[in-house]
Amino acid sequence: MPLSDEIKSFLQDQALTRFLRYVQVYTTSDETVNATPTSQRQFDLGRMLEAELRELGARDILLDEHCYLYATLPASPGVSGQAIGFLAHLDTSPAVSGENVKPHIRPFDGQALRFPDDPNLVVTAEESPELKHCTGQEVITGSGTTLLGADDKAGIAEIMAAMAAMVKFPELKHPEIRVCFTPDEEVGMGTAKISLEKLPTFCYTVDGGEPGELEAECFDAWGATLTFKGISVHPGYAKNKMVNAAEVLGRFVGAMPEYETPERTELREGFFHITGISGGEEEATLKMIIRDFQVPNNERRMEHLRKLADYFEFRYPGLKIERDFKHQYENMWVVMEKHPDSIEKARAAMEEAGIPVKMKAIRGGTDGSRLSLMGHPTPNLFAGGMLFHSRKEWICKSSLRQAAETIVLLAGKWA
Ligand SMILES: [Zn+2]
Repeated sequence: MPLSDEIKSFLQDQALTRFLRYVQVYTTSDETVNATPTSQRQFDLGRMLEAELRELGARDILLDEHCYLYATLPASPGVSGQAIGFLAHLDTSPAVSGENVKPHIRPFDGQALRFPDDPNLVVTAEESPELKHCTGQEVITGSGTTLLGADDKAGIAEIMAAMAAMVKFPELKHPEIRVCFTPDEEVGMGTAKISLEKLPTFCYTVDGGEPGELEAECFDAWGATLTFKGISVHPGYAKNKMVNAAEVLGRFVGAMPEYETPERTELREGFFHITGISGGEEEATLKMIIRDFQVPNNERRMEHLRKLADYFEFRYPGLKIERDFKHQYENMWVVMEKHPDSIEKARAAMEEAGIPVKMKAIRGGTDGSRLSLMGHPTPNLFAGGMLFHSRKEWICKSSLRQAAETIVLLAGKWA
């Protein structure tokens, strides 16, 4: 059953006011700190949400010492379906300042978005094609000096709005809902100290981009370190003796596939990505990451590196290349494909909300992919923000409502 206009306008109102409040809290995480949370300021938003959850009548509210906030909304009377979880992250990316965010909301004329605090900053529909769908609607950005923080405060606001609606409108039947707001997602530590036993088996992260995005696949990820061991000799007497590890490493990189790099691939294409080169004549190190959605493709890439290393050892007598490959994370699809129901329900909820579904594969890993591999199948739902991690970050006001509607309808599917 489609949602009533009254519920829709309540969701819009709730998601917007909450979103504008949350983005003003400074919660940037810090990749240089080896603790959870990486920045104490994430507790400021954690405590604000803790109080709001209490006001909503949620139960078992816990903000723990690592800044994970958990809460439960009991099932509607008479509903006994399986509990489901919704997750979003408290922190914003350290790539751009998140201090003193001043959200700016204005109607979009179809031409360009401009920013009050930086007249040189412009976002056009050519640069961000999704903007075309927002012509005539209200669009929210930062003021031009900071990111906005829709990643992922939109997700938090949408989950909170959906919970508020489930409390206010008893006709919205739902099973037990558990929410978890996590720190440090942007520095890759979002699940570092999570209490898995507090999460139900089936969860969703609300951390994706444009409306309709639904993600249940991520990269299969490997790290490779090749250590080149050469022969160092006085350069004045080196003829036919020296093997310069640094120089040979350079030739090795030159022999790698030029068109399998991040800057030349998209969609479902994989790549090699060099993340570091260091060393000198005697020893030099080449570090890279290897990514693909298909395991055999990554195996082929590693085999290619091994063969290339064999060839270089043959070509430069005395050279030794040590090879070290480490599996970093797995494509969550290996788990998700066993639980098509969880994806189908999300798809059905979006369709019911009138949003065309766009299944996508995440070109990276997410908290949801890690959770999936830890036994909690967790697809990612759209949160609505675009141009994440930049001063141009924007979100259409109606996307906040669409995501909140999706969460309410999805909860109904599990009831
Ligand atoms: Zn995010």
